[in-house]
Amino acid sequence: MRKIEKRTVFCLILAGLLGLGLAVFCFRFAVDGGDWASFPSNRHLYNSSGQLKGGTILDRDGDVLTWINEDGSRSYFDSADVRRATLHAVGDPAGNIGAGALTAFADKLSGYNLFTGAYSPLGGGNSVYLTIDAYLNNIAYQALGGKNGTVGVYNYKTGEILCMVSTPTFDPANPPSIDPDDPQWDGVYVNRLLSANTTPGSIFKVVTLNAAIENLPDLFSRHWTCTGSVDVGGDAVTCPYAHGELDIESALAVSCNGVFGQLAAEMGGKTMAKYTDAAGLTTAMRVDGIQTSKGSFKFDGTENQLAWAGVGQGQDAMCPINMMLYMGAIANGGKAAIPRLIEKSTTDYGLPTGVYAPRKSSELIAADTADTIADMMHNNVIATYGQDRFPNMDICAKSGTAEIGADKSPNAWFTGFLRDPETPYAFIVLVEQGGGGASVAGTVASKVLTAAVEKGY
Ligand SMILES: [Zn+2]
Repeated sequence: MRKIEKRTVFCLILAGLLGLGLAVFCFRFAVDGGDWASFPSNRHLYNSSGQLKGGTILDRDGDVLTWINEDGSRSYFDSADVRRATLHAVGDPAGNIGAGALTAFADKLSGYNLFTGAYSPLGGGNSVYLTIDAYLNNIAYQALGGKNGTVGVYNYKTGEILCMVSTPTFDPANPPSIDPDDPQWDGVYVNRLLSANTTPGSIFKVVTLNAAIENLPDLFSRHWTCTGSVDVGGDAVTCPYAHGELDIESALAVSCNGVFGQLAAEMGGKTMAKYTDAAGLTTAMRVDGIQTSKGSFKFDGTENQLAWAGVGQGQDAMCPINMMLYMGAIANGGKAAIPRLIEKSTTDYGLPTGVYAPRKSSELIAADTADTIADMMHNNVIATYGQDRFPNMDICAKSGTAEIGADKSPNAWFTGFLRDPETPYAFIVLVEQGGGGASVAGTVASKVLTAAVEKGY
């Protein structure tokens, strides 16, 4: 009897393990099946040169950006400029741009589903409608004027990325031969909005301001005199020129390194790290499954290094989309919709194949602090950047001119948001080695935002 009992228990354990294994497999099959099927060596989905056989990619208003012809070849939109402007969103035929839709959304394009596998009755695969507008991308591409950089604009209420341009770029219909060591092609396969990691410069002062408002109760009654250089921790923190008499609002408007360097040093590295983390700048996000990069900041050096870190220099590195999300949170009472790229996806017959809904971030900034900072960033535009460059916009902004080496001209940044309920857009512009942030990147932002507001989404 005892022998039989033992065997029964043993059999039950075996059956239990089998059931558990089957459950794990079924769960992973349902969740990851699309990724397994769209593995690049699956010859049902890819031809011998590695190109996805099916799938149409459209922009938000239905412009067809790439499709498959009856002979199996792939075509792209008929304007070369639009092809270049949307390259990093759409992807290249060889699949070098990993964050492009052709690669990142291959499972949705191939027509794969849980029940029929990769079978597609009409052979053309599925359609993916991106949230971007090809027209707005082209405006941004032209505005960058051949410089390397990125432009991002998104709706902080819905998460829809309206504009996502990264340069250098190329024409996917006629891919050039690219020498990766040629500086002309520096990081050409990287989508700079999602994956760059670079010195933020003075746009980071918004985070230092965020920390100062909540940690220094007398901040708004303080006054400083900028002489162009101030000693912090035995070494200088310098400004391009003497800013003179300042309070905190004017210090932000003229972007005084001396004031913000001293504030960072006074609050200390732990506080600076806490607020940088809270702002989301050190956290990667998933944009419809595409993993973004995350920033890194060093606040534990000397007091002088801490001061420079507080003005976005030193070893600070940031991914542009993180700052765009933080701007959305300042605009939106502390939390913003997480950026997303897929408007909808459909089968050959037009049936939806997925649900794409807004998702909110965690609280990146306290609501009352956000409102205070928004007013101060609006004052930046009135006092320094020029409201006439942004007609009919309730715009809040911060420029940055990030030093990236003695022999290079600085990177130009411009970031912020519109407060209009009809056009709730946050934006970020980077022009690499562009020069002055407000003048160069601000001009790109002005062109793109003017077009976005005129069209309205
Ligand atoms: Zn100054």
